[in-house]
Amino acid sequence: MTEINGKVMVIFAHPDDAEFTAGGTIARWTNEGRRVSYVVCTDGSKGAEIEQLDKEDLVTMRQSEQRQAAAILGVAEVTFLEYPDGELSSNRGFVANLTRLIRQFRPVTLLTWDPWRPYQLHTDHRTVGFAALDAVMASGNMRYFPEQLRNNLEVHQIKEIFLFGTDQPDTWVDISSTFNRKIEAIRQHASQMTDPDEVIRHVEEWNSHVGYTQGYSYAEPFKILHPECSICR
Ligand SMILES: [Zn+2]
Repeated sequence: MTEINGKVMVIFAHPDDAEFTAGGTIARWTNEGRRVSYVVCTDGSKGAEIEQLDKEDLVTMRQSEQRQAAAILGVAEVTFLEYPDGELSSNRGFVANLTRLIRQFRPVTLLTWDPWRPYQLHTDHRTVGFAALDAVMASGNMRYFPEQLRNNLEVHQIKEIFLFGTDQPDTWVDISSTFNRKIEAIRQHASQMTDPDEVIRHVEEWNSHVGYTQGYSYAEPFKILHPECSICR
C-alpha cells in the first residue's frame, strides 16, 4: 500500500460509521503521529428508536459518544455538520461545506464511504461518498467555490482517497495492534447497540476474516483512489 504520511480527514454520515469501518486504521495512523480530523455529516437523529428520548437528547448523546470514541482512537478534532439524519442530499451547499473544510484542514488522505458499492441501501452512505468525492475534486481547483479563496483559504489537492464499505478492496490495513482500541471505541456508541457483545462478535468475525485472507490477525479493507492520477480519473 502507499505509505503517505500526513494529515487525514474522515468524512462520514453518522456517529459510529468511522469506528466500525476504519477504527483500527485510524488508531494506527494516530499512533504514527498523523493528525486526524472527523467530519460527521448528519445529526444521527434517527439512529435509535427509543420513544422516551427526545430528538435533541438523542443528538446530544450521539455526539458525546462520538467524541469519546474519537478520543480513544486519538482523533484530534470532530466537526458535526448536523444535517438531518437520513436526509442528506449531494447539493451544492453540502459540497461547498466539505470543500471549505478540506481547504481549511488540508489533509493528505481522505477516508469516506464507497458510494458505488452495489446495493448500498443507506441513502446517507451513498450521498456522503459522492459529496466527499465531489469536494475532493473541487478543493484542488480554484474555479470551484472561488468565494472561499477570497477569504484566506487556498486550493488544496488531496493525494489519496481510502473508500470504506467497499466491495472492491485493493488495500488491506493490518490492524492487529489496534484492534482492541477499535473495539473500545465502538463500545462508546452504546445508544446504537442493544447487545454490544453480539455486535463486537460480528466485527471480530469480519476483521479476522479479512485479516486471514491477507495473513494478518485483523485487517480492514479499502479501495484506494489517487485524485491526481490521470489514469485513476
Ligand atoms: Zn452510517
